[in-house]
Amino acid sequence: MTKDFQTDSRKLLGRLREIMSEEATGQTRLDRITQLIAKDMRTEVCSIYLFRDSDTLELCSTEGLKPEAVHETRMRLGEGLVGRVARTGKVINTADAPKEIGFRYMPETGEEIYSSFAGVSVQRLGEKLGVLVVQSKTARQYSEDEIYALEVVAMVLAEMTELGAFVGEGAALSARHKHPVLFRGATGQEGSAEGHVWLHEPRVVITNPIAEDPHRESERLHAAVDSLRVSVDQMLDGVGKGDAEQREVLEAYRMFAHSRGWLTRMEEDIARGLSAEAAVDKEQSATRARLEMASDAYLRDRLHDLDDLSNRLLRILTGQGKETGADMPADPILVARNIGPAELLDYGRNLRGVVLEGGSVGSHAVIVARSLAIPLVIHAARIATEALNGDHIIVDGDGGLVHLRPDETVLTAFRDKIAMQTVAQQRYASIRDKPAITKCGKTIALTMNAGLMADLPSLAGSGAEEVGLFRTELQFLIRSQMPKRTELAALYSKVLDSAGGKRVVFRTLDIGSDKVLSYMKPNDEPNPALGWRAIRVGLDKPGVLRMQLQALIRAAAGRPLSIMFPFVAQYEEYKAARAEVDKALARERILGHPLPQKLEVGAMLETPSLAFAPNQFFRDVDFLSIGGNDLKQFFFAADRENERVRRRYDTLNVSFLTFLGNIVDRCLETGTPLSFCGEDAGRPIEALCLAAMGLRTLSMRPASIGPVKSLLIRTDLDALRAVILKASEEGNQSVRPAVMEWLRTQP
Ligand code: PEP
Ligand code: MG
Repeated sequence: MTKDFQTDSRKLLGRLREIMSEEATGQTRLDRITQLIAKDMRTEVCSIYLFRDSDTLELCSTEGLKPEAVHETRMRLGEGLVGRVARTGKVINTADAPKEIGFRYMPETGEEIYSSFAGVSVQRLGEKLGVLVVQSKTARQYSEDEIYALEVVAMVLAEMTELGAFVGEGAALSARHKHPVLFRGATGQEGSAEGHVWLHEPRVVITNPIAEDPHRESERLHAAVDSLRVSVDQMLDGVGKGDAEQREVLEAYRMFAHSRGWLTRMEEDIARGLSAEAAVDKEQSATRARLEMASDAYLRDRLHDLDDLSNRLLRILTGQGKETGADMPADPILVARNIGPAELLDYGRNLRGVVLEGGSVGSHAVIVARSLAIPLVIHAARIATEALNGDHIIVDGDGGLVHLRPDETVLTAFRDKIAMQTVAQQRYASIRDKPAITKCGKTIALTMNAGLMADLPSLAGSGAEEVGLFRTELQFLIRSQMPKRTELAALYSKVLDSAGGKRVVFRTLDIGSDKVLSYMKPNDEPNPALGWRAIRVGLDKPGVLRMQLQALIRAAAGRPLSIMFPFVAQYEEYKAARAEVDKALARERILGHPLPQKLEVGAMLETPSLAFAPNQFFRDVDFLSIGGNDLKQFFFAADRENERVRRRYDTLNVSFLTFLGNIVDRCLETGTPLSFCGEDAGRPIEALCLAAMGLRTLSMRPASIGPVKSLLIRTDLDALRAVILKASEEGNQSVRPAVMEWLRTQP
């Protein structure tokens, strides 16, 4: 690139800055900018298209096209060349626009006489705001330098749009971050909450996209990159040798932080007149555009690393750390692109709700949110760029919806819903200490699932009779290194203390599949859900299992103890695991530690194979618990983590209910205590049907106990069973319609 082009570009930005500093309406500013660019680039047309909603672009200003088309011409994202630039974030530069794939002619603009077309995306920190276009009659490709100049101008336009410089009439010129926006995500954790946004990573504000002194900006950039490199080296020194995954990420950070290409591109942006932070933003936006398009998992990971690194650099340059000095609102709803389980746990119960752009139903953060019993919506695309700290927000975890800056109608409807839920909660509180005895006189034990100390207060609050499932892996998942035996013993002991004599069923470490420990060597398995997980790991590498069993026996310190093994697929596995318990008891006895006054050892029935195990197995186990989440995914061969298939098969499917009924029968024949601890136990209709199929203990999220109990005590299970059997005899695939219809007729 020649010095002349750099100087020209700086002059252009200088004039842009003058336009911005003049008192004028948003429309006037835009018009002056399109005139300026057309003149400066000696091209007949310059137009600016901005988004009027997330899917529609609008021509907001033009020099060269017909003025009457302004605010009239619109296209959808991906439509025509402008829509394509907006969707991909990539430049289109062509001498013969009508020949380009996707070209769409807009007659009202009079653009048919222009052959050349160049469009660049107007985007800020990866957020797409619009498209800047130049066109000319002569068939020519715009030069690389001209395109570069356009990109630099587009960057400045993006920062100015964000700062509100183009606010005017109509949706496309409306002030940003002020309007109601509805985000459709997915349910992470049910429940509803109203509150105010607390951003996990507040947005960086760039107030000075244009700089006069490139030398000074270059020095600022270099100083910031130096301090970034030092901080990456420090992070690398801080990670343990065993932390291979984290090390790999940090090595990638170091590689990028020392990348000449990255630095050179930012230096060129600065030479063109951008400030150091705008240069970082420009390159980061390009990275995010590539990230959106990348399908290769490795490439995506590395682009994520580069994106994260750019964020750090931007925070160093602007001095805007996570601490903005803002006070957390009294009713905070956390909004983040993503968050780790330990960080979420740090916020703890202060939060009213959580909204994530990423996440998955089984991710660790989701598990923690469940423990904290706060509503959580995942997959709320772009919310972290749209929301501002303090914005009013409603989280509807049941529907996976988020209303940002809700209007009065939404607010009223939502508050009505909450009021109804409050009335229901009061009703649940009134039956909290009553047993769940059905109308036909059957007693159903309702117990709760837990995994963190934070769960234990719910034991009293929910009216749960015991802890039917304590997922011990959560303690492992929220740490960055393997917990020690003494730590675990102390924790389990505290759990037993808090349970105040109520039974707690400790499930031994259930890792693998979707639950991956950062500090354990990752296994590259073709199908992790069917892979080396849970008890398979415990038996093949018994070190951790032994340590955990010892910790449990020590924690019990003579009190009763219940241990349950996850994911047992055949009798032999149970025998081998049980032998480990016996060995642990023998060792503890020799060491002089008190043994549990009463010990129960059970298994989770999560694979169809175990339902067909020999009778001896059923007699041998002290109890069985159906892990419906896993059992269902294997029964239907539908991955519970795969959004495409996970809801495809109904729990109330006749085949599945029949299968559960068979398990109940086998347990009755062999006298094996049986419970059900998958998520379905906490869904009132499903819980009713499970009870109708003969299950007498249901373990669920504490928040579900009230709704499930309230429905159970109003139901005649014998009558419901007859409805289920009839529906199944009639050849229905699911009994749900018949059950719902029957419930409607009940008093
Ligand atoms: C289950 O599979 O139903 C279960 C309770 O275990 P998890 O959800 O922890 O796999
Ligand atoms: Mg399971």
